[in-house]
Amino acid sequence: MLFGDRGPMKTIIDREKMILLKTCAACDRPFNLGDPVVMACGAWEGPPKLIHENEAVFDPASGTYIERKCYSARNR
Ligand SMILES: [Zn+2]
Repeated sequence: MLFGDRGPMKTIIDREKMILLKTCAACDRPFNLGDPVVMACGAWEGPPKLIHENEAVFDPASGTYIERKCYSARNR
């Protein structure tokens, strides 16, 4: 997957990604053109997915983004 110039795990929804991804794994809402998104791990099965940037937390320990809900559950 290609990423823009916002960093290794950050990108912005373009037309191609909007068609490919359809909805956000974190909030189940459809993506809009220009939405800032990050590659994040979450409560879902399988590999990291692109979700809205404001629904993810950067975890400095692992150097990855984690879905906010998942992150707070892990650190309880
Ligand atoms: Zn979302």
